[in-house]
Amino acid sequence: MAEGKFVTAINCMDGRVQEPVIHYFKIKHGADFVDTITEPGPIKHLAEGDPILTETIKNRVTISVTLHDSNLIGVIGHDDCGGNPVPKEEQLKEIDIAIEVVKSWELGARVIGLYVNNNYLVEVVRE
Ligand SMILES: [Zn+2]
Repeated sequence: MAEGKFVTAINCMDGRVQEPVIHYFKIKHGADFVDTITEPGPIKHLAEGDPILTETIKNRVTISVTLHDSNLIGVIGHDDCGGNPVPKEEQLKEIDIAIEVVKSWELGARVIGLYVNNNYLVEVVRE
C-alpha cells in the first residue's frame, strides 16, 4: 500500500482546473496526493451513460480506491469547459447524476461534487 492519504478526482483534462482541485483536496480534505482521472468534460459522459467512457473511468477510479485506499471521490465540472460547453446550471444537474453513477459502483468511498468557477475557485456542489 502506498504511503500517504490519497483521494480521487474525476476531473476535466483542462489544464486550468488541475491545480485548484488538487489544492482544494489538500486543504479541505487533508489529502497528500490526488489521483486524477481526466477526460474532456467527464461529468457529461457519466451523466449521459456513455458506456465506453464510463467503463474506462470506472476502471481507473477502482485502481485509485483499491491500490491507494482512497476513500473520497470528487466528480468535477468547470466554467468554460470545451468538452462540455453547457451552462453551469446544466453542469450542476450532470454532477448530481454523475455522483449517483459513481456511487452505484459501490467502491466504499464517499462521493462529492465540485465546480470550478470562472475565478478558478472550487465550489462545493454536493458533499
Ligand atoms: Zn473541461
